[in-house]
Amino acid sequence: MKARFFAFYAILWLLLVTFAFYWQIRETKHHAETIATRQAEMFFDYIVLIKRWNASHGGVYAPITPDNQPNPYLDVPNRDVITTDGVPLTLIDPAYMTRQLAALQHDSTGIDFHITSLKTMRSENAADEWETQALRRFEQGEKSFSGLTQLRGAPYYRYMAPFLVEESCLLCHKAQGFKVGDMRGGISVGIPAASIDPFIENRLQKLRISHAGTAAVGLLVLALFYWMQHRMSRRLDKAKSHLQLAYLDALTLLPNRRYYDVFVRRELKRARRHGYCLSIIMIDIDYFKAYNDNLGHVAGDDCLRRVARTLKRYFRRSGDLIARYGGEEFCVVAACEETQARQLAEIMRAAIEMMQLEHPASAISKYVTISLGVAAGIPGNQGEFNDILEHADQALYAAKQDGRNRVEVYSRLTLSPASVLADDKA
Ligand code: GH3
Ligand code: MG
Ligand code: MG
Repeated sequence: MKARFFAFYAILWLLLVTFAFYWQIRETKHHAETIATRQAEMFFDYIVLIKRWNASHGGVYAPITPDNQPNPYLDVPNRDVITTDGVPLTLIDPAYMTRQLAALQHDSTGIDFHITSLKTMRSENAADEWETQALRRFEQGEKSFSGLTQLRGAPYYRYMAPFLVEESCLLCHKAQGFKVGDMRGGISVGIPAASIDPFIENRLQKLRISHAGTAAVGLLVLALFYWMQHRMSRRLDKAKSHLQLAYLDALTLLPNRRYYDVFVRRELKRARRHGYCLSIIMIDIDYFKAYNDNLGHVAGDDCLRRVARTLKRYFRRSGDLIARYGGEEFCVVAACEETQARQLAEIMRAAIEMMQLEHPASAISKYVTISLGVAAGIPGNQGEFNDILEHADQALYAAKQDGRNRVEVYSRLTLSPASVLADDKA
């Protein structure tokens, strides 16, 4: 894994963890809202229950105190009575009781609840904007209304549901023209967001820690993986270069004799299996001893390198090989017929001549030249392959004898010059 990939995976991982973190935050807030709404619903049911209880008794009497003054909106006979032992009592109807409970609840827990309708008798019961919106929805058939909203400048989770006129309500509200089942109004419950915030904050803190931990562990594992992979690929590269060194000729960077042997063994098996022809071209630089003697060994080495580089260009196929066979000799093994091998040999010969490497000591040219011997055959076994090799060597010898800077083909060594000429024309 390259550093680039590591960076890519690291960024991907961090993005993933960040996405999971924000998704969890969203879920937490949603969850908090659900809990608050559920809590508000319970309050609502509880208030309805108390109201029903009160209404079922046609209101309840309580002593008149500074906090419990007679309800001026309650227009019923016997609103205020005096007990036989002289205690003044006033009738508390469901709405008045709800108002008093609301005040108590608000003072002790901050939870707000409010009984209201679109037509209220008292101004304190008038619906605020949010409640009005809810009441309008109830008129269209909605069963409840909730959301996080501002109430007296602070955020509240608010819940509201309608309450319907029951038989007991008519005791006080018949005059307003209500019938049983009518929507009388609604009760809104507000849970201060501040009471839920510590829960959210606590959960967020845990999420921060767990996600930071997950991100760090992921990065650590990735870094470990990267390091191990890096170490392994370095070892592999080292082994590879050792292997390459073992099979490469250090001077010309061509495959060496050892690789040639391995290659020949493999190629021989394949040629035998498929029954195809193998060609061998033996190549030898002409008058190379004289070159060395004349220009020195360093120039000789350089000449070998250049010749090798030029010859190498013609070998791209995996089935063909050119190797340094020894000294100033090269050997080609190619999976082709003799004719193609001869053409290839001629191309190589011309290519070296065209390089025009000065050779002041050559008896046949101003430039470095090569002689080549070609032989081909379908080998059945190693012995037969050695025969082809031997034939190529003999062809090379013939090329030297014939004047160098030429290609000789073993199969044509025994032919008469006339038939060779005819063959060449063909
Ligand atoms: P011919 O045309 O018949 O092939 O003559 P030749 O001089 O090329 O052949 P000979 O076998 O007499 O000489 C080969 C020379 O190649 C001898 C040796 O100094 C030289 N040689 C072999 N290997 C190297 C090498 O790695 N570097 C250098 N500079 N010379 C080498
Ligand atoms: Mg030689
Ligand atoms: Mg030579």
